[in-house]
Amino acid sequence: MIAERAIPWVGIALALASSLGLAIAGVDLWLALILAMFWIGSLWLALPEPEVEAPRINAEQASRDAMRETIESLGQPMLVLEGARVTIANAAARAALGAHVVDQDARIALRHPDAMRLLEMDDGGSVTITGFTGGRSLWQLTRRKIDTRRWLIELTDRTSEADVSRAHTDFVANSSHELRTPLAAIIGYVETLAEGGPSVDEAARTRFYEVVLREARRMQSLVEDLMSLSHVEAEKHDRPSEPVDIAKLAARVVGEIGSIQGRDRFATEFPEGESMVLADAGQLEQLLRNLIDNALKYGDPDEPVSVQVTRSASSSVTLAITDRGPGIEPQHIPHLTRRFYRTDPGRSRAAGGTGLGLAIVKHIVERHRAQLDIVSKLGEGTTFTVSFPPPPQVSLNGLS
Ligand code: ADP
Repeated sequence: MIAERAIPWVGIALALASSLGLAIAGVDLWLALILAMFWIGSLWLALPEPEVEAPRINAEQASRDAMRETIESLGQPMLVLEGARVTIANAAARAALGAHVVDQDARIALRHPDAMRLLEMDDGGSVTITGFTGGRSLWQLTRRKIDTRRWLIELTDRTSEADVSRAHTDFVANSSHELRTPLAAIIGYVETLAEGGPSVDEAARTRFYEVVLREARRMQSLVEDLMSLSHVEAEKHDRPSEPVDIAKLAARVVGEIGSIQGRDRFATEFPEGESMVLADAGQLEQLLRNLIDNALKYGDPDEPVSVQVTRSASSSVTLAITDRGPGIEPQHIPHLTRRFYRTDPGRSRAAGGTGLGLAIVKHIVERHRAQLDIVSKLGEGTTFTVSFPPPPQVSLNGLS
């Protein structure tokens, strides 16, 4: 675009006034007019050439395009502001805030009151906003100066970090609470025994010792489960590589538990031949023990627990543990593998449960790239199924 020339009104007025003066003074009118025309013409020619603005605008556009191209595919959402207007929003920012933010006033695009505070900071800065993109989302917005007119706003999604930190805090709080309860009982009973001395009769003394022992064992189970959970979590990215015959392992575990609980507590079904999976034998045994233990705890004591291993044509192996009993209400099923989740805390504690058994099972299942399914019918019972992927042939032959 070319700027218009400024009209020299003062010079024109002077030229016309001089011609009028000459005419009044008796100079021929036409001569006076011609003189005025020359004067005005010379003024016009003496005007400076108008500035050509096009190159500056093209340079601006080119710089904007280059910046757009640079930040477009970056994973972090970014906005470029020119004055108060959003001129660029990269793909990640459009996905987070919507494509409509481009060309919007930044105060409308960002909306949140804390974001307004950020826009008012003279030298840029950073704010953390809860609920910026709804719900429990947590974002950090940082505003930096690019040049005299432009600002860059980086948006960092901190939601999952906050979730992990919250889960960690909850876990520590829950673990402490679970440990504190038996510890308080132990301290109480031991204090009574110590303070009462010989005045505590033999029957009471025996009862108190039993309680102390039971609560100490409860603490021991909890500490063991916490350590198992931490080991399984630490190894979750390390895929197990030991070929294990799961039917053979299940038969051994059932035999050991059956020798204490009674063999008639179980109904087993194992396939002919081997049922190989690539596994960590110790963890697989723990998975079996946790699921069988729950089936015995929560199922009907007069009904046998079924332990079944099946092998499909593709060599994938499935383990199913079924109890007959009251079953689990459907709303609890998605949460059962959460740490310390219990449908009936009193019953779980009375049965010596820690609330961690299924959380450990879930982590073992994930480490083995297997799948856990829980199917329950109220009044009938529950089946926990673990489906293992077929092991790669080369590994089982010991070639890898
Ligand atoms: P707990 O130590 O309490 O048994 P788990 O993590 O093993 O902890 O199980 C979590 C909860 O799931 C239990 O408290 C119980 O409410 C429920 N549950 C687990 N297995 C069964 C089952 N076979 N039948 C009914 N409820 C079960």
